[in-house]
Amino acid sequence: MSILNKLKPVSGIFFPSACIVCGKATANAEICPQCVHEFNVIKAPFCIKCGKPFTSDTGISHICYDCIKDKNKFVMSRAAFEYNGAAAKLIQRFKFGDRVNLSSFFSDELIKLYKTHFSAEGINAILPVPLSIRRLKHRSYNQTQLLAAVLSKKLSLPIYSQVLEKVKETPPQSRLSAEKRHENVKDAYRVTDRVSLKGKRVLLIDDVITTGATVNACTGVLRHAGIKQVYVMAIAMRV
Ligand SMILES: [Zn+2]
Ligand SMILES: [Zn+2]
Repeated sequence: MSILNKLKPVSGIFFPSACIVCGKATANAEICPQCVHEFNVIKAPFCIKCGKPFTSDTGISHICYDCIKDKNKFVMSRAAFEYNGAAAKLIQRFKFGDRVNLSSFFSDELIKLYKTHFSAEGINAILPVPLSIRRLKHRSYNQTQLLAAVLSKKLSLPIYSQVLEKVKETPPQSRLSAEKRHENVKDAYRVTDRVSLKGKRVLLIDDVITTGATVNACTGVLRHAGIKQVYVMAIAMRV
């Protein structure tokens, strides 16, 4: 697994360090072997549009029922991990635990995902899913903005941080049922500058895709503002 490639010998000597997930001592790795096994990397078969993995007798990826019903308005979404186990623990720490240095680990995973699925799509702008001003002040950072900034630099793509804005304070999606999530984010986002995005293929960055309500709400306003191609990339997806 790719995470195992992060072994870091220094001058040939292995120093013990703490696992970034569980904190236990681990020799020369950022993540201990037990936690590595808790990461569920999303692999085929998955929906060729929304990226949600499924079991299939043939093992072949195809479009899922939700996407056939046109539930998802973006062109394509992909996530690196299933939202469970070590990935969920680490994302929680990244979002709420002031562990902003985890953006380097997560952005490395997102770059691999980008190279596999998005590099041929002609993406020319990166947009982080915004937080409301109140939540941003409370948390002091937007985790998707941190990821988008690293991706922008490493992929040499411009980042448009101010173009999409969250204008409605909403309860956290995690506390709501699937039906309520769509209602919760309805009219929550707006595009502040149509001109800079005109004719662009944009990649929306989020941390976790649960029901897709947030990324679909953002896609809706972006499309309404004249953006035809919206792609979505996230660290993890609830399956
Ligand atoms: Zn561990
Ligand atoms: Zn799908």
